[in-house]
Amino acid sequence: MWSLLTSKHSWIDSLWWVAFLRPDGQAVGMKPTSGVVLVTGGSRGIGAATCVLAGRDGYAVGVNYRKDASAAKQVVVQIEAAGGQAIAIQGDVSEESDVRRVFDTMQEAFGPLTALVNNAGILGRQARVADIDVARLRRVLETNVVGAFLCAREAVRRMSNHRGGVGGAIVNVSSRAAVLGSPGEYVDYAMSKGALDTLTVGLAKEVAADGIRVNAVRPGIIDTAIHASGGEPGRVARLGPSVPLGRAGTPEEVAEATLWLLSQASSFVTGTFIDVSGGR
Ligand code: NAD
Repeated sequence: MWSLLTSKHSWIDSLWWVAFLRPDGQAVGMKPTSGVVLVTGGSRGIGAATCVLAGRDGYAVGVNYRKDASAAKQVVVQIEAAGGQAIAIQGDVSEESDVRRVFDTMQEAFGPLTALVNNAGILGRQARVADIDVARLRRVLETNVVGAFLCAREAVRRMSNHRGGVGGAIVNVSSRAAVLGSPGEYVDYAMSKGALDTLTVGLAKEVAADGIRVNAVRPGIIDTAIHASGGEPGRVARLGPSVPLGRAGTPEEVAEATLWLLSQASSFVTGTFIDVSGGR
């Protein structure tokens, strides 16, 4: 069995070394990494772009997915083809036992976690509040709020330097919907992102002394498949021109903001938001 060993070098905070241990215990292939990041819902859209850019920036990447193993595998292959390290890990973020298993798998593969991107999220078909049933409401909140909370909690338990961790950074993928409210489309979804914003503010203050920064990105209209799941595949084309910058955004544009918030370049930034929304 091959295994991985990670250790922190004191001479520079942001550099980690991942050593591949051969069965005879000899370390080979030592390589600097920026840290170890788990991206939830990383198999497509904004999550996949975040995984790829994290690989580019030297992170060892955990590509979490719920159902689509082959899409997650493709993201891993893309990262590895560019010289990075990644694994795909199945797990539903709204299931506590899955969340624990996903984080355990990360630890076994890459050593101590240093970063979490809480990206997994869903929305229901466009509807007015009067027509939203409780089953759909619960589904949205279970993934977008309970799931994000469970992942943040698990990350804090492992990263807190009062609990033996090495500190780190969390980025929550919220939405401009938290501010705009999504009337006539999905107020339940917007409400869930409002909860995520409050988690960002509260948790940032709570764990600042544990060596953990917590921030969020709030994407506007981004060109991904999520709009089709809301029942309007053409939503991006319809609304893109109304954005002050005149178009929808790309998953990569969101991922760049996330990577900055994870990096040492934002070392004095916590409890705040970057709107990646073209001015919307
Ligand atoms: P997407 O539908 O392409 O990706 C969402 C990912 O989350 C999928 O891979 C999905 O399988 C995964 N996921 C859903 N439920 C999960 C669960 N329970 N456990 C694990 N994974 C789960 O959509 P996207 O546009 O890439 O969205 C990513 C994030 O960005 C979401 O949180 C979304 O709310 C947010 N966002 C997107 C936009 C946009 O316009 N695309 C705007 C604002 C915010």
